[in-house]
Amino acid sequence: MTTTQPLELLAPLSGVLLALDRVPDPVFSSRLIGDGLCIDPTSQTLCAPLAGVISNIQDSGHAVSITDDNGVQVLMHIGLDTVNLAGQGFTRRVVEGQRVEAGQVLIEFDADYVALNARSLLTLMLVVSGEPFTLLAADNGVVAVGQPLLQVSPGEAAEGAEEEEGDALFSKPLTLPNANGLHARPAAVFAQAAKGFAASIYLHKQTQSANAKSLVAIMALQTVQGDTLQVSAAGADAEAAITALVELLAQGCGERVTAPAEEVEVVAPVSSASVLRGVCASPGSAFGQVVQVAEPELSITEQGSTLAAERAALARGLQAATDALQTLQAKAAGSAQAQIFAAHQELLEDPTLLEQAHRLLDEGKSAAFAWNSATVATAKLFQGLGNALLAERAADLADVGQRVLKLILGIQDSAWDLPERAILIAEQLTPSQTASLDTHKVLGFVTVGGGATSHVAILARALGLPAICGVPAQVLALANGKQVLLDADKGELHLDPNLAEIEQLETARKQHVLRRQREVAQASLPAITRDGHHVEVTANVASLQEVEQSLTLGGEGVGLLRSEFLYLDRNRAPSPDEQTATYSAIARALGPQRNLVVRTLDVGGDKPLAYVPMDSETNPFLGLRGIRLCLERPELLREQFRAILASAGLTRLHIMLPMVSLLSELQAARRILEEEALALGLSELPKLGIMIEVPSAALMADVFAPHVDFFSIGTNDLTQYTLAMDRDHPRLASQADSFHPAVLRLIATTVTAAHAHGKWVGVCGALASEALAVPVLIGLGVDELSVSVPLIPTIKAGVRELDLDGCQTLARHVLGLEEASQVREAVRRYRAATVETSPVVEH
Ligand code: PEP
Ligand code: MG
Repeated sequence: MTTTQPLELLAPLSGVLLALDRVPDPVFSSRLIGDGLCIDPTSQTLCAPLAGVISNIQDSGHAVSITDDNGVQVLMHIGLDTVNLAGQGFTRRVVEGQRVEAGQVLIEFDADYVALNARSLLTLMLVVSGEPFTLLAADNGVVAVGQPLLQVSPGEAAEGAEEEEGDALFSKPLTLPNANGLHARPAAVFAQAAKGFAASIYLHKQTQSANAKSLVAIMALQTVQGDTLQVSAAGADAEAAITALVELLAQGCGERVTAPAEEVEVVAPVSSASVLRGVCASPGSAFGQVVQVAEPELSITEQGSTLAAERAALARGLQAATDALQTLQAKAAGSAQAQIFAAHQELLEDPTLLEQAHRLLDEGKSAAFAWNSATVATAKLFQGLGNALLAERAADLADVGQRVLKLILGIQDSAWDLPERAILIAEQLTPSQTASLDTHKVLGFVTVGGGATSHVAILARALGLPAICGVPAQVLALANGKQVLLDADKGELHLDPNLAEIEQLETARKQHVLRRQREVAQASLPAITRDGHHVEVTANVASLQEVEQSLTLGGEGVGLLRSEFLYLDRNRAPSPDEQTATYSAIARALGPQRNLVVRTLDVGGDKPLAYVPMDSETNPFLGLRGIRLCLERPELLREQFRAILASAGLTRLHIMLPMVSLLSELQAARRILEEEALALGLSELPKLGIMIEVPSAALMADVFAPHVDFFSIGTNDLTQYTLAMDRDHPRLASQADSFHPAVLRLIATTVTAAHAHGKWVGVCGALASEALAVPVLIGLGVDELSVSVPLIPTIKAGVRELDLDGCQTLARHVLGLEEASQVREAVRRYRAATVETSPVVEH
């Protein structure tokens, strides 16, 4: 070991220091990438914490690493999930291989843009080469850029670089499926897995190679989706290493990938220059021609004529806009568009906005000037609040502002003369623009602004059109008429698509559209198997809006109302009246013939609630979660019971307790419910059931069954607790599979116990929303499938293709298999055989 002077790392930014444990991203907080610290930035320039060479700077400009002469390697990562911004908001000031001084500017970033468009601005500084360090600044304190922050002891890194020894084995080439290539998160997962083998391992991309155990080396390969990669290894466990790592790559290294590797492999690799990346706002794909959409500049005179004339002009403009919005709402009745235009209409009546405009009129300004200034100022205010949702509402305000402005100025909105097969490209598409589109001619949207929750995204999904947003601004320079391929599932716009890609995506798109149309058209039909067995298909919801949407998509009730999500973005508890009103509105929407299953607050673990403060726990998933927390704070539960009970006569009311693991929890909750029902003078209790999401509850289902009216199986938690795999762990994502026979056996135990006591069983975890799982769940005897709203038609259609008899044989078969992948394979074979020909199960 060499002895070298300790090295001081300077603060790369000004801001507030946070311990790594507090970063809400397990890849960083678990130190998978490396140990270090986190800064919540107050400055917008990232500077070098040490002198050295830029060993990697990501094309997207959100991450950079420096290696000093002693091999100390420091990675800085600006924000969380910022790779999705595809470079937008970042300006690189250095290049790879460049030598930099400590304190030198590396990257400038637009903090507002990043805060609004990415998950978080939290910036990480990690010693990825593994040397120990001590903190020089006070933990949780404020730091200034350039201030000494860490003292690193060089020469003490756990592992050094290694050479490939002996004859290396090479894997077959494979195509990288990750939408953003191997950026920090998947690269860390891959490097971590490689470190588990003694062999020396390299990852190859064309002529470049990277030490597979080095995160920075992998990131330096600058891989992109579609790259052809190979893994090589030399040493005793080389073969095992290659098998494991190739599988890990194919599965996305902990990231969700849109297509299995075999399917991706047939797509020709694409060079990064021919693809522009954004994020998926609405799924699907399309091949068409570029149509650039630009708003004309409006000329506004500042000075008004008489006050009376300008007031009248503003009033006329507002009235005409209200009329137009009402017509649009009527046309789109019941859809997402209608709600957006209702919100626009509300903005027109906003007193603060009108007050601002009138103040300017009183100062002698024109109606157009006054209205425009008021809307622009308010939109800016929304944008500056650091809240992504409000920022998106700013786009709505700009849209409605423009509508009124044109009416005041007497500018007619000319209907767009669109060519066939148009892919619309815009800085930002407004809801008004999208609503007036001829959807027969438009195949998709691509925008520079907007997010997955923007109204344009909602509209695109409602129209069933593929859309991506957050695409680099260079998209605005594409020539009208250029043929492009929009692959929204992957968040990509291909500028030079080849024929094979086009044909493949076109076929998939047509099949998808036809299938979806058929499923939606038949959504109101009941889910009855070919041999006459009815399965209830209900919705998992978190809002009244979702309940309404579920009814239009054939939902037969609500199988899971996640009540904690009704008030997620609040820092004060909703008042009892507010809670009552929310539940009653949902109950009324469902009516007396449908089930409403309200789950009581399921707070804790992955779902902290701002207005229910909790002590920090070492392992929140095993701590005071769900019913445990509610029984600790019975006043919360009492209040919620009272609010729910107010809906008793309005619907078929069910109350469900989450995370029950002991019979005593159910009994304690039932006592409280009975007391509250009595106090309200109710003669009959609503149905009371429990979620089965802890193995103890499943194994003891026969003990619970006499005390409940129903069970609903939460396969998300049941899987994590059965397999002891954190449901959010990036590396375990592919193994924490609810198709595992262990989970299925617990479902079988639960169903048998429930049916023996005449009680029904639902599944409300994500497994129920997987079409592939439906035959197994039906075969196991599950009575109700509560699924995510958009999937209701698909799951119902899936049930109608099956036979109960065949499903039961299949279920018996899969319970005896060894692992999840075998179950998936068995179901695939079963479906292929039954859907196309007669029901046969292969054993
Ligand atoms: C589950 O655990 O499967 C479930 C439905 O509950 P949640 O996902 O809300 O924890
Ligand atoms: Mg759960």
